Amino acid sequence: MRLKGLNDMTTHFCTCKDINCPVHPLKLGKGCDPCIQKNLMQGEIPSCFFRAVSDNLDGLEEYTFESFVRFYLRNRGKQLA
Ligand code: SF4
Repeated sequence: MRLKGLNDMTTHFCTCKDINCPVHPLKLGKGCDPCIQKNLMQGEIPSCFFRAVSDNLDGLEEYTFESFVRFYLRNRGKQLA
């Protein structure tokens, strides 16, 4: 079964623009595992979740859970009302 909107997995779908990150899939070729492991260890959320909310990350200084909540509310808070 092919899910609409998903690529054919011959290329990684990562939306992270920090290709110099040591755990970026393009660098390691190991998919999301190293990124998620790093984020869990640091109490952070991968950038793809932020980019799923908005592609404009201007002014974002950290990727903590708390930062994600603030980012979400700033960009999508009106949808919760
Ligand atoms: S979890 Fe990390 S490696 Fe995977 S798509 Fe998100 S940002 Fe990219």
